Order: sequence, then structure tokens, then C-alpha cells
Amino acid sequence: MKIPFNKPCFEGNELVYIEQAISNGLVSGDGEFTRRCHAFLETELGVKKAFLTTSCTHALEMAAILLGIKAGDEVIVPSFTFVSTVNAFVLRQAKPVFIDIREDTLNMNENHLENLITPRTKAILPVHYAGVGCEMDTILEVAGRHDIPVVEDNAHGLFGKYRGKFLGTFGCMSTLSFHETKNFTCGEGGALLINAPRYIERAEIIREKGTSRSRFFRGEVGKYTWVDIGSSYLPSDMLAAFLYAQLEARGRIQQHRRRVWEYYYARLKEWAKAHDVRLPVIPGHCEHPYHMFYMIMPTYEDRQAFIAHLKSRGILSVFHYLPLHLSEMGIRLGGKKGDCPVTEDISDRLVRLPFYNKLDEAKQQIIVDAILDFYRS
Ligand SMILES: *Cc1c(COP(=O)(O)O)cnc(C)c1O
Repeated sequence: MKIPFNKPCFEGNELVYIEQAISNGLVSGDGEFTRRCHAFLETELGVKKAFLTTSCTHALEMAAILLGIKAGDEVIVPSFTFVSTVNAFVLRQAKPVFIDIREDTLNMNENHLENLITPRTKAILPVHYAGVGCEMDTILEVAGRHDIPVVEDNAHGLFGKYRGKFLGTFGCMSTLSFHETKNFTCGEGGALLINAPRYIERAEIIREKGTSRSRFFRGEVGKYTWVDIGSSYLPSDMLAAFLYAQLEARGRIQQHRRRVWEYYYARLKEWAKAHDVRLPVIPGHCEHPYHMFYMIMPTYEDRQAFIAHLKSRGILSVFHYLPLHLSEMGIRLGGKKGDCPVTEDISDRLVRLPFYNKLDEAKQQIIVDAILDFYRS
């Protein structure tokens, strides 16, 4: 492939900081760079507590444990998401109740929420698709009325905003991903952000294998011992060092991604209109962090032909998400065709264009020229 779909990009200080972490003599978890990342996220976003984790998947697993999810509980989650949003809760024996998405933002359709709530509903999991905020006003109002916790899967949306407020600061908790495919990365990594202080103390224990290790090292308890369930959710300080170099470059990364996104939009707008292709919709009250550029083709056949067309020009475009309720596991959990009609339709027609921090205009020009040729060929 001449032009990949994604490419990990380095901002310059990654190796410098990793070396510093090594010479600090502490490369396990919660060293200097982990603390710096925590402080950065807490200060920039205004969350009560940030915990780096080994992945967004693991941050979601921590959230499920913290909410005390158990067999028979229900969680309301979009079918149009990455499997981890759901799996983390299914691991605790919860039953996923899949909610359909809005046609415009592809976020959970908040108008369906009320109908899906039962006395067994124990969590609502909005996913800010492409970093465009879900309708949090309505979601929080409905959740609040039924006293159901909201956990935001903000894997796409670090530094995105809804009505001027950062995504990830609305629910009692939220999660981030620093996987290679996300805006900020350390290869594999994530974070659990906590807004409701009542979860902080236990989160620290769960993240440290169910032990009081952190409190021991702060001198708050005389010995460290097994106090709760938990697992090993903290990343090495070398990964935190890599991540800190990326977070520090926030301004540059955001600016670059904005340029990439706006170039696609400006050059594809007229073509899209002429061919009944839909470009992303960003509501006026949402600021997105330019996580991805997707298009919705008129039909499944067009989408497949489009991907093949770009491939023949050496350009990799991809689609996602296969509806979770129709996956092998989803069907075993009771999912069937027609449960989420908008999800099923969009999933057949959506395509994502190459998008990464250092994608330059020369390459984008090649991509867009190839796209403009599609309905000609
Ligand atoms: C990437 C992603 C995840 C999982 O992230 P990892 O860090 O790879 O575990 C979860 N949810 C969504 C919406 C994602 O896009």
C-alpha cells in the first residue's frame, strides 16, 4: 500500500523521556511519568482523578468492577461500537441491552433510552463516536431520574467538547484509549478518569491487584495486603514516558489533525452532494478532536466497490463496526436482525479514509483525486 490507513507518529521526545524513565531507576508502574500524565489529564480536563491503565478495555473493566456489576444486571450500550465497551461488562456477567444510533452523529439515540430502562439497568454507556459528543443533556437527565450511573467510553474523544465542556467529564467515570490508532498513543494504553470521588479509593486498589500497595507507599498503612478483587491494570512508566511526550505535543497534534480533517471536508463536499454520499455531521454545540474522517456511501455495493477502487490505487480505506448484536457472541446473547435498524444500515455503508497525525497534503491530494475518480470509472 502506498498510503496506509494509519501510521504511528512520533512527536520527538518519546525516546528522551523513555531514557529518563530508565535512568530514574523505576520502570514499573506509577513512576514519575505516570504521575506527570495523571497531573496533565487532571489539570487539562478538570477531572477529579486520572489513572493510566494498560488499555481502554482495562479501564472499562475497572469501571464495571467499580459499579459492582453482577449476573442479571443490564447495561445499555450501542451496538455500533468496539467490542470492549460491551465485553468489559459481559465479563462481569451483565446482559447488554443494545441501543440504536442517531442517523446524524452515529451516537446512541438518546430518545430510545427511556424505553430500554428496566429495574435491572445498572449502567448507561455512551460512546462519543469519532469524538463527537453524545446528547449528554438528555442522557444525564434520564439517567439521573432513574439513578443509573453513566460511564463514557471516550476512546475517540480526548479534548473534544459538548456544550463547551470536555467529553469524559459528564459521567461518574470515563475511559480513554492510547492505542496506536487513537489521536494520542503509547502503542497500547488507556486511562480511567473519575469524576465521582466515591470511586477513587477503590479504583486505586483494583488497579493494584486488589492490594493496598499505593496506600502503603504513601505511608498511610503499615503493611500492604490483599483487600479486594482486582487485577494488574497499571502500565510501565516507560509507556507513560512515551505517552507524556505525546500529550505534551497536544497543540501540534490537534492542529495537524484539524488540517487533515478540514482538507478532506472542503475537497469532498461538492462531490459528496452530487453523489448522495454523506459526510460527517458535527452539531454546532460539539467540538470534536478530529479523530476520524468517515463517509456514508449510498449503498453497500458502492461502499465495497469504493474500498476496492482505492485499494487499486494503493490506498487503504476501512470500514467498521460490524453490529455487535449480530456478531456470533451477540446472537448467542439474543441479538437478531432488525433490533437496531440504523446501526445495521450504517454499518453496511460506512467507510473511513486514511487519517494519522503526520498525513501530509501531498498524500491527501492523491487520496482525494482517487475518490473524485470513483464515480467516473
Ligand atoms: C479503541 C477503542 C476501545 C479499546 O481501546 P483499547 O485501548 O485498545 O483497549 C474501546 N472503545 C472504543 C470506542 C474504541 O474505539
